[in-house]
Amino acid sequence: MPRDSAAARDALVRRIEAKRDELTALTTDLVRIPTINPPGDAYTPCAEFVGARLKARGYAIEYVRAEGVRGDSAKYPRTNVIGRLAGNGDGACVHFNSHIDVVEAGSGWTMDPFAGIVKDGKVYGRGTCDMKGGLAASIVAIEAILEEGIRFPGAFEISGTVDEESGGYGGVGFLAQRGYFSKPRVDHVIIPEPLNVDRVCIGHRGVWWSEVETKGRIAHGSMPFLGDSAISHMGAFLHKLETELLPALRQRTTAQPVEPKDARRSTLNINGIHGGQPEGDGYPAPVVAHSCRTVLDRRFLVEEPIDEVKAEIVALLDELKRTRKGFDYAIRDIMEFLPTFTPLDAPVVKAVADEIRRVLGREPQYIASPGTYDQKHIARIGNLHDCIAYGPGILDLAHQPDEYVGIDDMVASAKVMALAGLRLVGVSI
Ligand SMILES: [Zn+2]
Repeated sequence: MPRDSAAARDALVRRIEAKRDELTALTTDLVRIPTINPPGDAYTPCAEFVGARLKARGYAIEYVRAEGVRGDSAKYPRTNVIGRLAGNGDGACVHFNSHIDVVEAGSGWTMDPFAGIVKDGKVYGRGTCDMKGGLAASIVAIEAILEEGIRFPGAFEISGTVDEESGGYGGVGFLAQRGYFSKPRVDHVIIPEPLNVDRVCIGHRGVWWSEVETKGRIAHGSMPFLGDSAISHMGAFLHKLETELLPALRQRTTAQPVEPKDARRSTLNINGIHGGQPEGDGYPAPVVAHSCRTVLDRRFLVEEPIDEVKAEIVALLDELKRTRKGFDYAIRDIMEFLPTFTPLDAPVVKAVADEIRRVLGREPQYIASPGTYDQKHIARIGNLHDCIAYGPGILDLAHQPDEYVGIDDMVASAKVMALAGLRLVGVSI
């Protein structure tokens, strides 16, 4: 490395370290805007807060409201913000995408979840870890590059997008359909989700949600023999899942580095079950249930074709239809996303892994996520495959009470983001 480039690198690193308090303050400011989803509170003020910060540093700002998507209304507009900072001349564009929505606080907090309390080197609050600390780190990383006067070709983009916690349809999904996550506009994407400061997340398993309904025949609850209970039929189906499908799924493993390790197997969760009359306020009427519905949450491996994933559930249902008297069913797709993995030799993976090595002095770990995140939209709709998740938060703290992000980790991740970002636009220091 030439001397002046080593000096430039040191100066950039030192500047980011000097921004520690600023980075902390930005995170607390973001946490104090309670962007709870559902329903999608305070999206517009949060997007505008981010937009104003970026605009002051010379970014071109766009606000894109996902009008017409589920959840969007005059009261809860789905407002996204995208900032673009053009460099000098042609080059690649590196996009840092963070979701601004957070899940509800829930119970178990020992402090105000939206106060942004700083204590013992950590910022506490809902969304600190997932993922406003990551958003703040990316903003400060690029500000440090600007303040150092480092010239770069291409462009940096930073977005604050909504609804990731509810599928991302009003956020990255909406924007991807409009070209915001495709070439030639964007080349590399880093999503600062909380995956730990020394890990590169290359993608996620697939998901298929379906609703299975078993059918019955209504009758008086005092004479169940005159009807046919859809709940009993559902029981038979669940028993088959437990005794036949789940043991088979546990045998299937993936070569992808999914964390936690138990998620390297195929899984199925029963997300919900609804049958018969709801309890309501008074006594439910005494009837034999004529319908029972369950929502299945099937997470599958890249080694499993989705057609087979679906077919094996249908085969169980068909077998019951042949062998169990009165059994009838309907099945409906709710949502599906294929597994998405960025190759380990992709430029964004290599750049971030190298800078983790240099900044933290340890080997990066490559992981994949058990559940999906916005990378699915970027890969599927945007057709952009140079995308990873990398951010300062600790994965296990996401959605927990007393969620926090470590300030040292934010500073370290900002260094990695700045240096990897520069490398990806073509500046090596
Ligand atoms: Zn998240």
